[in-house]
Amino acid sequence: MYDVVVIGAGPAGSTLARMLNKGFKVLILDKRNLNDNSDYMREKCCGGLIAPDAQKMLAHLGIGIPEEVLTGPQMFSVKSIDFDNRLVRHYQRHYINVDREKFDRWLVSLIPHSVDIKFNCIFKSFKKQDGYIEVKYRDDDREHIVKTKILVGADGAISRVRKQAFTHGAIPDTYVSIQRWYKTNNEMPYYTSIFDRDITDFYSWIIQKGKYLLIGSAIPDDNEANKKFDLMIDRLRDYGFDIGEECKRTGTMIMRTRRLKQIKTTNANIALIGEAAGFISPSSAEGISYALKSGAMLAHSINKCNVDFARDYNIRIKSIKSNIIIKNIKASIMYNRFLRKIIMISKVLSMNVEDV
Ligand SMILES: Cc1cc2nc3c(=O)[nH]c(=O)nc-3n(C[C@H](O)[C@H](O)[C@H](O)COP(=O)(O)OP(=O)(O)OC[C@H]3O[C@@H](n4cnc5c(N)ncnc54)[C@H](O)[C@@H]3O)c2cc1C
Repeated sequence: MYDVVVIGAGPAGSTLARMLNKGFKVLILDKRNLNDNSDYMREKCCGGLIAPDAQKMLAHLGIGIPEEVLTGPQMFSVKSIDFDNRLVRHYQRHYINVDREKFDRWLVSLIPHSVDIKFNCIFKSFKKQDGYIEVKYRDDDREHIVKTKILVGADGAISRVRKQAFTHGAIPDTYVSIQRWYKTNNEMPYYTSIFDRDITDFYSWIIQKGKYLLIGSAIPDDNEANKKFDLMIDRLRDYGFDIGEECKRTGTMIMRTRRLKQIKTTNANIALIGEAAGFISPSSAEGISYALKSGAMLAHSINKCNVDFARDYNIRIKSIKSNIIIKNIKASIMYNRFLRKIIMISKVLSMNVEDV
């Protein structure tokens, strides 16, 4: 019998597994293979920007990103292109540009040997029994069942644990996120954010990763997402971006938590952390800081209270909920065409950038 079974070895799950007391018997499983020496088969679709909040969390956890996880260029500003108001401004920002897959593998490499790790395993379902939970997962060959006292869903935006543990109640607004990789010959020493209501009421982005431009968008979940994405690429080419041959396409769902009731955290001995709980910024789609933070918070709660962790965890995550309320207020200003226009015209907090 395990004390804790964690579904998902992204930033939330791997942080939790790393920080649980060594005395607990822990299993973490993931459908990806996050071993250092294997090829990327199921790559996480992500911009791979470590925002200041995530940097602060890494500092708080006492870890720093190793050199081999970084990619280039490192960027110190965001160029905001507002197609709705035909305005462009630069703002100073402090991101760290990483290879997201390598980032996840590095976090997994920090999990102690006392934790059982299983990759290429898909969580299927769970069944509550008297005093324990049966967890069913599948590897390449067959289905397995393990018993655990605590089950944790760290399985991201399309969390199967959440779906099964919380059959009623609100889910966060859902967007289709498309990212495509294009060759480029130019250096783009800034991160670009794009506002265009013809494409989405959220936003789109361009991030250079070495010789590639990673272009992404979070588009409302209708059947038009690919068509709208193509329209955006045409507009960016017309605008003057050097967008070369397309090399790779990735896509996934992305959550946008607009109301606190869309956040789900505990149901008896089942807990959610990271994006599975609904912890993601509704203004920027930044989620790594929340994943690290909620993973660490749940570890503290289980270490302190064992199976009675729920009350302690729900108290700790109040600060995350408050932060998401603030980000929603920011979003209501940022995504209001008129208010954004006033802010951009006023040039408040913007900076001049020389043409190179
Ligand atoms: C397109 C896009 C761009 C983004 N860009 C950024 C960014 O630049 N910076 C930022 O901070 N945030 C960004 N985010 C948000 C960020 O990626 C997430 O919020 C963050 O990864 C959440 O971490 P997590 O550990 O909760 O979940 P995840 O990182 O999603 O990890 C979940 C893990 O669970 C595994 N899993 C899922 N289902 C199962 C199953 N049934 N069985 C077994 N394993 C399973 C997955 O393989 C995965 O490894 C972006 C998101 C998207 C979609």
